[in-house]
Amino acid sequence: MTRSILDLADEVWNGRTHLNDIRDYPVDQLEEVAPGVMMAPGFGHAFVIDHGDGVALFDTGPRETAKALNEGVRRLTDKPLTHAVYSHGHLDHVFGVGPFDEEADAGGQARPIVIAHENVARRFERYDRSKGFNTTINKRQFRNPDLVWPAAYRMPDIAYVDVHTLSVGDLVIQLKHCKGETDDHTVGWIPERKILFPGDLFLGVAPNAGNPQKVQRFAEEWAAALRWMAGLGAEYMLGSHGVPVVGEERIRTALTDTAQYLETIVEQTLAIMNAGGTVLEAIHDVEVPAELAQKWYLQPVYDEPEFIVRNIWRRYAGWYDGDPAHLKPARSEELAAEIAALAGGPDVLAGRSEALAEQGDLRLAGHLAQLAVQAAPDDPRVHAARETVYAAKAKAERSTMAKGIYAWAAAESRAVTTGGDTLSQLSTLAGRRPVSL
Ligand SMILES: [Zn+2]
Repeated sequence: MTRSILDLADEVWNGRTHLNDIRDYPVDQLEEVAPGVMMAPGFGHAFVIDHGDGVALFDTGPRETAKALNEGVRRLTDKPLTHAVYSHGHLDHVFGVGPFDEEADAGGQARPIVIAHENVARRFERYDRSKGFNTTINKRQFRNPDLVWPAAYRMPDIAYVDVHTLSVGDLVIQLKHCKGETDDHTVGWIPERKILFPGDLFLGVAPNAGNPQKVQRFAEEWAAALRWMAGLGAEYMLGSHGVPVVGEERIRTALTDTAQYLETIVEQTLAIMNAGGTVLEAIHDVEVPAELAQKWYLQPVYDEPEFIVRNIWRRYAGWYDGDPAHLKPARSEELAAEIAALAGGPDVLAGRSEALAEQGDLRLAGHLAQLAVQAAPDDPRVHAARETVYAAKAKAERSTMAKGIYAWAAAESRAVTTGGDTLSQLSTLAGRRPVSL
């Protein structure tokens, strides 16, 4: 018998184990984690709230576990699923309702009512318009060559704007729109039982406020939402990733620290911007204070501060990065050919990139390896160097975001040296795939 989820959560809080241990808990073995709330752990947890007349879901998990979620709920109760709330429209939160719809149809009962912020529907429209792009960037981000982007979504039935109160059975669940990781986010709060559902606004890792391949994130609003949540006096914080946090003091500390983390990155970035600096200076100069950087719930294993800086910059500034050569640049391969010719050939650049990587300067090595293949895109020798350099970069990084992009680059070059294509090479290079957030 494994320890309970709450015991695991306590061990994680005290630094005795890692929050990834939650991945060992099956989605269909629901456990009570707060009064009347069962947790279905997954890549995107779902929470089943008993309200007397039925059950409601806060978040519904991804496609892969929709059936198991339904089976897990049905092992516990025959009560109908009356409502489901999407914390936001990311794929790991919005695909659990289908089996409950089917169940209701089969029994001639009303389908559950799905509630979400109005921007969730807009997100799904955007996903449809940029399906090819989203397929590629998510394969890259999650190092998952098999990822298929969905063709259809379970749309919300109620799209609210600022706040929505769900009074159901003997329970009141307050829903509030907060920007942060996304523009469509909902926080849930059950005042009577002091249970907080922060969705993805508390992840158990550093905030995903910088993601290099995705649309704008909202670091300042995210910090404000964290401060608001910290003031609620919650006794249970049931985030949609990571482990629950139990106890008012712990919750306030975790939320306040995370707010501070975002606030200091915002302030430092703006200070550099206002002093006439560039985004490229800011990414090197902004620093997270050591006492925050060491917190278990602020580890940069998914997203990282350097990327958050860029997102803040994008929020305030145009796309010009301060380098006038980048305003109207030459084609990359033309610039690379010039530099390669000056250096003595693409293989000189490639050799130097390997030497720099060997010495541990992976940033500089990345530039030279990239220039080498841009100057000689079909040359397996320079691609071999690029593969070595970018595989080393993927290995050295901690964040999913950086690892995904570097592993993809290594796979591209490996496809030139070894044959096959980027996706098939990604499978061999990817190793253990990250869990999606
Ligand atoms: Zn998520």
